[in-house]
Amino acid sequence: MSTNPGEFRQCRKCARETYDPIENCRKCGGELLGEDRIRSVGSLNYALGTLLAVIMGLTFAGILFLAVFIMEPPKLNSVMKIDPVSRDLSIFAGLVFTGGIFSAGWYIRRAGRRQQETARLEARDMTIFMAIIGASLAAVTILMALAGE
Ligand SMILES: [Zn+2]
Repeated sequence: MSTNPGEFRQCRKCARETYDPIENCRKCGGELLGEDRIRSVGSLNYALGTLLAVIMGLTFAGILFLAVFIMEPPKLNSVMKIDPVSRDLSIFAGLVFTGGIFSAGWYIRRAGRRQQETARLEARDMTIFMAIIGASLAAVTILMALAGE
């Protein structure tokens, strides 16, 4: 990695900042990331957050499709009369979807800030976000299973 004199860099492990032309962090010996690297990690998070938001959207669309068109085939003459189970399921899916979008938004917004912080913190945020998505999907799966009985 090139070390231009006076270039801002930050330790990947402990977030210590330096302008010195050294290869590794003086405090912990961790890898020092230049601004380009910090920025590219941030960009990756933006892309990942957007992708997850899209996945949540597709999941919601899929659940809605299943709820309305497969679990209870619509009567073409009374399209507006959706049965209570499908309606409740759709509302729940909507709530999960909304939660997913807010999670994604929160994460995407945070990723911007992380451009000036460490990759370690980004990994922790990622874990939290994935847990939220996973829990949402698990909840939908359980509800789908219950509704299917
Ligand atoms: Zn360090």
